[in-house]
Amino acid sequence: VPNRSRPIDMEAADSALRRVFRFDAFRPGQREIVQAILAGDDVFALMPTGAGKSLLYQLPAVSGVAPVVVVSPLISLMRDQIAALRARGVAAGALNSGNEPGDNAATLAMIENRKIRLLYVAPERLALDDTIDMLARMKPRLLAVDEAHCVSRWGHDFRPDYARIGEIAQRFGAPQTIAVTATAAPRTRADIESLLFARKPRLFVHSFRRPNISIAVNRRGHTLSDVAGVIRRHRGESGIVYCGSRAATDQLARALSLNGVPALPYHAGLDAATRSANQDEFLSQRDSVIVATIAFGMGIDKKDVRFVCHADLPHSIEAYYQEIGRAGRDGNPAEATAFVSRHAWTGHAAPDIDSATDTRADEARAISEFARGFDCRWRTVLAWLGEESAPCGACDNCRRRLLWLRGPQAILRRTREA
Ligand code: ADP
Ligand code: MG
Ligand code: ZN
Repeated sequence: VPNRSRPIDMEAADSALRRVFRFDAFRPGQREIVQAILAGDDVFALMPTGAGKSLLYQLPAVSGVAPVVVVSPLISLMRDQIAALRARGVAAGALNSGNEPGDNAATLAMIENRKIRLLYVAPERLALDDTIDMLARMKPRLLAVDEAHCVSRWGHDFRPDYARIGEIAQRFGAPQTIAVTATAAPRTRADIESLLFARKPRLFVHSFRRPNISIAVNRRGHTLSDVAGVIRRHRGESGIVYCGSRAATDQLARALSLNGVPALPYHAGLDAATRSANQDEFLSQRDSVIVATIAFGMGIDKKDVRFVCHADLPHSIEAYYQEIGRAGRDGNPAEATAFVSRHAWTGHAAPDIDSATDTRADEARAISEFARGFDCRWRTVLAWLGEESAPCGACDNCRRRLLWLRGPQAILRRTREA
């Protein structure tokens, strides 16, 4: 098999974890996966947001499995990771169109003199013949595909260039491959496996439970005062309000601000400067609220987001999971509150959907059933992601059931114990 050499000892990784990354210990699931990489296996890792998926390819890179080529969908994600790696003394660089020409030249020099350990490449860039020739000469030891759900048409962030990564990798030696994602319902998972991997990968599935996030879904559309109420309940804290369209985003952000509840808009229709200013403000402040479309959030690493409020629901449970998952990354309690108009969920169930859009229809049906349903919210979400679970005991439906079964005392007791 090309581009593979002897397995590397786990000791190198254990010591680099402390020495280079300055982490005391692995997080759950990380060690086994790093071990599999060092042993030369192809890996497909499904782990929730915040689990620490970047370490799964960064640690091997500094432990001797280098160079690693990392494909990542967003320039901002690459930039953050490279800055953090360089701060730790790791030779990392990116090739993408958003770079200053000087940056690309410096990266190319690191490649030429074989110093580079991690090379980040945007998927569009990967597809270019020049890049492929360069990678064929560079002979990467590992190909890491981050946010791998972008490979699948069924995923909510589909990127056509991602779907071709597997085929392109053949042209530069089909190196050992790791794909990581926080979302992969069974159908998406199968798609990623067949498109990305030349051999069957070892699958690592970490539980998608996020017990610190409590879910509530209101079976009616939102009003301005509903959303303001959620924000006020979290005075002094940060949160994200998701809207279904750019217009709704602008309108709601403006209305909130006019009513004394400051909130910044974020969507793809804003100019780049405003977008990055609003994102920076959100990331740097402890009490910032952003009103956004789905354009906001992928890869946002802000630990103290205390609430995610859906003024409109997204079109699938996977997207919903991804969005609420941006809350509570520090492990402290966080709240996911959604408002769903009757109109929205009857609209989803419309019967005149043609068979070409079957999957979309299934997804829409599932999320509308989730919104209308009386089963545990978390159990419903996790079931869609392929995971069985017991009722969470903390969502609106679980609390309602407890109230029916045992009266208000049961809820009080539970709250006190928690
Ligand atoms: P994911 O991609 O799974 O959402 P990231 O790779 O962005 O997660 O990691 C989330 C945060 O956790 C980062 O700030 C990272 O530095 C940190 N982290 C990762 N692994 C560890 C660890 N073993 N110990 C402490 N912090 C960690
Ligand atoms: Mg990540
Ligand atoms: Zn529940």
